[in-house]
Amino acid sequence: MSDPTRPLGPKIIAVANQKGGVGKTTTTINLGAALAAEGCRVLIVDLDPQGNASTGLGIEPEDREYTTYELLLDDVGLDEVIQNTNFPGIDIIPATVDLSSADIELISNEKRSFLLHDALRQHAMDERAYDYILIDCPPSLNLLTVNAMVSAHSVLVPLQSEFFALEGLSQLMLTIREVRQSANPNLRIEGVVLTMYDARNNLSQQVESDARTNLGELVFETVIPRNVRVSEAPSYAMPVLEYDPASKGAQAYIALARELMNKNVRAAA
Ligand code: ADP
Ligand code: MG
Repeated sequence: MSDPTRPLGPKIIAVANQKGGVGKTTTTINLGAALAAEGCRVLIVDLDPQGNASTGLGIEPEDREYTTYELLLDDVGLDEVIQNTNFPGIDIIPATVDLSSADIELISNEKRSFLLHDALRQHAMDERAYDYILIDCPPSLNLLTVNAMVSAHSVLVPLQSEFFALEGLSQLMLTIREVRQSANPNLRIEGVVLTMYDARNNLSQQVESDARTNLGELVFETVIPRNVRVSEAPSYAMPVLEYDPASKGAQAYIALARELMNKNVRAAA
């Protein structure tokens, strides 16, 4: 069910954490799929040169003629870069390794921090009427991640339930603060979601309790368990919800989607 209380176009969420391997791409794909299963129309923006979100959603490299690179650097329009996926309710702007040079190519561009912001606000977006746009960020606080934060309403932070999880978070928060001060004063933190959680592992519990103590309400109640079906799904180019809907991982992402939608309904009320 799309949210009737939020008439102002899509809610744009940057999925960011400068650490690699913490579950950004997994969360982007599977939260996207879960939101779509709840009836939302979702656009995934692959902003990582590794293109894992594109691969995980079944877009083969040879089918990525127009990508986020062309959207940001070549003025190719939204209509040309958005592709359907095989999954109802989910579209994608794919990425390829070309994007790895964008960070440097953008440096001399006056509008370098606003390119994604402006691209996502083209008129063509109005007709597409997405409920959510999820941006899969690279594992870095580079200009691509800044573009995501400048264009977004909020940042969703996956936190891997392991040692040193909270380290690096202050750097991320600092970047969010800088983006607020310079370009996007309304940028919010959507929440922090614990990923790869293992309830039998003391370390996971410790990370959870540290996160809840330090970050309070920012931490989603839903935690994403470590679940082998979640890690297998991308090799079948599917969200886990499609690959094994009954799995604990799929169910957790549904719970996360519902929690996020409820938060947004409450925020709009
Ligand atoms: P990032 O995008 O932050 O680099 P990924 O989403 O690619 O991280 O996840 C890193 C690795 O961890 C991948 O191999 C992925 O399949 C695996 N993974 C992520 N979440 C889970 C989970 N809940 N259970 C099991 N494996 C997971
Ligand atoms: Mg990734």
